[in-house]
Formats: sequence, structure tokens, C-alpha cells
Amino acid sequence: MKLELLVTGDEILRGTIADTNSPYLLARLEERGLRAERVVSVGDVREDFLAAIRAASERADACVVSGGLGPTEDDLTVDVASELLGVKPAVHTPSLDRLRARWAERRRNEPMPANAERMARAPEGAEVILNPAGVAPAFALTLGRCWFVFLPGVPKEYRALVDDVVLPRLSARAGVSPTHARVLRLFGPAESQVQERLEGFSQAHPSLRVGYRPTYPEIHISLVAPTADALAAAEAEARARLGPWVYGADADRFPAVVGAALRERRETLAVGESCTGGLIAKLVTDVAGSSDYFLSGAVVYANAAKQALLSVPEELLARHGAVSAEVALALAHGARGAAGATWGIGVTGIAGPGGGTPEKPVGLVHLAVAGASGYERAVERRFFGDRGEVRLVAAYSALDLLRKALR
Ligand code: ATP
Ligand code: MG
Repeated sequence: MKLELLVTGDEILRGTIADTNSPYLLARLEERGLRAERVVSVGDVREDFLAAIRAASERADACVVSGGLGPTEDDLTVDVASELLGVKPAVHTPSLDRLRARWAERRRNEPMPANAERMARAPEGAEVILNPAGVAPAFALTLGRCWFVFLPGVPKEYRALVDDVVLPRLSARAGVSPTHARVLRLFGPAESQVQERLEGFSQAHPSLRVGYRPTYPEIHISLVAPTADALAAAEAEARARLGPWVYGADADRFPAVVGAALRERRETLAVGESCTGGLIAKLVTDVAGSSDYFLSGAVVYANAAKQALLSVPEELLARHGAVSAEVALALAHGARGAAGATWGIGVTGIAGPGGGTPEKPVGLVHLAVAGASGYERAVERRFFGDRGEVRLVAAYSALDLLRKALR
């Protein structure tokens, strides 16, 4: 099956936005063993759009089109598709009803402009597909030898329709049976260490496709197998080989996994951050429901703030310096004590690019966790990268120390 993607929108050709829809679909296709031959972008120019669809209809068996289904005058998709089919756009009543209901709910006292109804149209005779995440319906039609499906450009809507409708249809058209996929999510190792642990793994599972994707500071490993049993066997072996580097799978997110472990134990966390500047608190509180376990975070940059807010002894700062295991531990104990939390995290280091010395170079970070019954653990790490990377990996590493303490 020859498959193409067509992406519309002036914003994309001007660089105002990046096309994230195509990578999403391409990645989902890859998981199913399908590939596109071409990704074409056109602006909101009628002739260009017409030509692009004509060309795809002569080359491809299937084409997924993104964008231009909205109510504004640059939204040309319904008109262009209708013109090519030689039909008129027709209002799709169920979508229009939903549009009206949504308008009434969101802009109660404002009249709906007539042009909003443009959004609820599709070419006469096309197969109309309700949009689960928005109003503008998607639609499908055949031109020449090619099956076209037209999706809204808004990423949330595009993705929902890709998952629900487009992928099953394309798989069926290509004659590939659905595959079984898992993404293992890792924090801690270098890529080469992962590779070393998985030596011979692919060969032991010949029907499996294995993909490695570093997404700083994590590494994701995708496993795609023809059957659920083959996937389960491969996943079990990969997990056994990789051990606690694997923090989760698929929709799991690192801070949420740590938070879930706290919630399960009905325990709480407070953090005292120096070089991460509140990033740990941000990562933890990005997760909905984190108030169940997160009590407080203090950003204590100045030595005086470390003393005043988290009771770090002046004498400790003078003797070991602010970037030291002793101070990281004092921050963890101080944060824990100040908030009355089960766990405290302390981080102090040199994020760079300035401020390094031969004894305490840029990237040096001390991380500590303090818990009940005198539990404490401190580690010294040296991270590499720019300021943002050092801070991010330091925040992750601090949470990872807690994750391991919770196991
Ligand atoms: P709308 O009803 O919002 O007009 P639409 O189906 O007409 O939706 P577009 O007008 O092409 O779609 O895009 C709507 C918005 O969705 C854009 O402003 C942009 O923010 C986002 N968007 C569109 N196409 C893409 C894409 N390929 N990748 C990422 N975001 C996109
Ligand atoms: Mg639009």
C-alpha cells in the first residue's frame, strides 16, 4: 500500500508552528509495520491544495490529510475536496447540532456567527466521521485509485481520529494484522549500557521489532510483536535484563510514577532545592492529584535562605561549602522537618556554565533523601550538558533516589 500524508496550513510553511501531526501518525504507523512514502506540505492556497490532492490521487493508495476544516476563510479543505469530487459541500446535521450545543454551553449570551456553521460541513456523498475531540467532522472519500481521509489540524482532534479511525482502516487496507506494542521507559543508564544489557535479545525474539529512542534524560525502548504472547515473553525478558532502570511503560510518566508510589504508601514529600531552582517541585506538581502527597518545596539559593528556611547550620555551610553531601542531607532533613513530610529531598550543585572550580566543577551535584526512622541517603554525581540539561537530569536523579528508597 502506497501511503502519503498531506499537511495543510500557511502556519507550517511560515515556521509559525511545527507539524507535530505527521510525526505522531508516522510513529503509530511504524509500530504497526507500515510506512508512508511521502509527506507533502502545502499552504492555504486553493490551487496548490488542489494540485497536491490530484497528485496524491494518481500516486498513492491512501492519503491522510491534516488541517483546514475550521470556520475561517483560510479553511479550504471541504471546498477543495468537494470541487474535486464535483459535488457541493453539505451540512452534516449531527455535527451542526453538537456545534450549537457547544456554543450555547461556552458562550451562552453571544449569538453564534453564521460562518461557524462552515465547520459542520463535508462534501456531499463523502463518508462523514464524527470528531470525538472537537466539532469539525472528519470525512473520507475515494478519488482516482486513492482513499483520502481528511482530519482536523488541531493536534488533540487529529490524534483522536488517527487512533480511533485512521489506523484501523489503514491496517485493514494494507492487510496487516494489528500488532502488539509496548514502550518501556527507562531512567538512569547510558544508551550503550542498555545495548550491553540487551545483547542477543533481538536475536532471541526473531518476530520482535525493537526500537531505541533517547528522549533526554530518558531512554524509551519500543517492542512490537505479532502476538500478545510474544510481546509478553519479550517484555518479561527485557524487564529482567534491565532491572530497576525501567521505571514504567507506555503512558507512565516519571514524576507520576514516583507520586503514585508515595500515594500508595500514604506518604508525603517536601523538597529543598538549590541548583534545580524549583524544577523538582514543578515536575512533581505537574501531575494532577499531586496534592495527595506533595507538601512543599523551598528554593534556597542563598546560604542565608538555607539557614533561615530549612535550618541548615551555618557551621555546616562554612565547613563543607554549599555544594556538599552534608548540605544536601541538611536540605533534605530541613525540608522534611519544616513540612512534617514523610520524605525530604535535598539538592545542591553547580548547574553552570559559570561557577565551577577544579574541586567543584560545573555539573557536580549532591543529591539526598531523608525519611522516617533516621533513613538518609546521599549521592554525589557529575552531570554533563548545558545548564538546562544539568538541572533536568539532577531533578530526575533526585526523584530517582526517592523512587528507589520507596521500592
Ligand atoms: P480549526 O477549526 O482550528 O481551524 P482546522 O482543522 O482548520 O482547525 P487548521 O486551521 O489547519 O485546522 O489548524 C488549527 C490549529 O491546529 C493551528 O492553528 C495549529 O495550532 C494546529 N495545527 C494545525 N496543523 C497542525 C500540524 N500539522 N501540527 C501541529 N499543529 C497543527
Ligand atoms: Mg483552521
